Amino acid sequence: MDLKALHRKRVLTPWQAQKPLDPPLVVRGEGVWLYDERGRRYLDFSAGLVAVNLGHGHPRMARAIAEQAATLAYAAPSLFHDKRALLAEALSQLAPWPEGGRVFFTPSGTEANEDALKFVRHLTGRFKVLAAYRSFHGATHGAAALTGENRRFPAEPAIPGVVHFFAPYPYRSPFYTEDPREEVARALDHLERVLLHEDPKRVAAIFLEPVVGSNGVIVYPEGYLQGVRELCHRHGILLVFDEVMTGFGRVGAAFAALRFGVVPDLITFAKGVTSAYVPLGGVLLREGLAQAFDEVPLPTGHTYAGHPLAVAAGLAALEAYREEGLWERARAMEGFFRSALEELQRAHPLVGEVRGLGAFYGLELVKDRASKEPLSPWHAPFSPAMQALLKALFQEGVYLLAKHNVLIVAPPLTIREEEFLEGVERLSRALRRVE
Ligand code: PLP
Repeated sequence: MDLKALHRKRVLTPWQAQKPLDPPLVVRGEGVWLYDERGRRYLDFSAGLVAVNLGHGHPRMARAIAEQAATLAYAAPSLFHDKRALLAEALSQLAPWPEGGRVFFTPSGTEANEDALKFVRHLTGRFKVLAAYRSFHGATHGAAALTGENRRFPAEPAIPGVVHFFAPYPYRSPFYTEDPREEVARALDHLERVLLHEDPKRVAAIFLEPVVGSNGVIVYPEGYLQGVRELCHRHGILLVFDEVMTGFGRVGAAFAALRFGVVPDLITFAKGVTSAYVPLGGVLLREGLAQAFDEVPLPTGHTYAGHPLAVAAGLAALEAYREEGLWERARAMEGFFRSALEELQRAHPLVGEVRGLGAFYGLELVKDRASKEPLSPWHAPFSPAMQALLKALFQEGVYLLAKHNVLIVAPPLTIREEEFLEGVERLSRALRRVE
């Protein structure tokens, strides 16, 4: 049977527009490699959707999930469950609050943000929420309302009360300056003006990805996150870091909050918590905030919240990260990753900028470096040039996540140096095919 044809016929995905790219039919994974039905291998250069931090076929993960399935495959969230308690304790210990925190488990990152939205409104009695343009928080109505990108527009108005602001984007500054310090000052001034316009007493929270993920791997210039934190303090507003993509080692620390030393009030997470072996997300709330829910019922819940297979996978993943020292390694490898990608940039005029940290990089593609004209537009399907490049990548045996005109290089944290260099070489060959 032609399973690719069957997939095309019967499976709806948001990547319909990529059909002409002819993606491979993958059937197996091992380490950083994916294999198709004919045994051809593809480097998983974005760890799936920046999620499979431990790589594929990790024996500890397979064992933990199988053992849990055989022991107890489901326990309602209204019951206590051993591994759910242990994972919540482990996450509380990783959190950036001396007093610790509590965890509300969800089936995904989208639902974590959807529920965090309810929590902040509930906790403050305020209705408005601010989020950044050029962000991604998920695709359900609330999470899509927070999201500042084109996927939101067909559902407008997604939900009322969500207001967007511009955040620094040094390569294409929305603040008309080349100076990162000035950019931060102008961005904070803009954010405060938005707050004052909306009336800070009516604003529950600011949602922010501490490093913008799928919308281009944008690392905010020094001082911006600190400034947002201060603004929130000054106006009694909660700060929510969406660490769905940045959490669990991607930026070389458990959370970006720890890497940057900026402490939010809530953290949403998913992906790396189980290395994507089983879907799991959640909201971490600072203990002082979580206590409010001792008095009132939680305004949300899910059949699969803290599913036993997911929490067993979460515990196993945390053990594997620790034993293999993968978060420290991501930080230590930063210079190596960056210099290999910068060398690629020097050889290819299509690569306008390389940015990122830890094991998380964005290559922003341009038609030419002087004009910085994007290779593919922001609010439209991939340009023919971008489509040709993505097709060339599959032909060269590389899978990576591409959004607008940005390629995201975020391999499993287990990647070996020679595998990374091979990925860069394959990427280089694909770029050469379309230049
Ligand atoms: N938030 C961020 C920053 C993400 O990158 C994503 C997914 O890419 C989400 C939320 C949504 O998470 P999920 O796909 O697990 O629902």
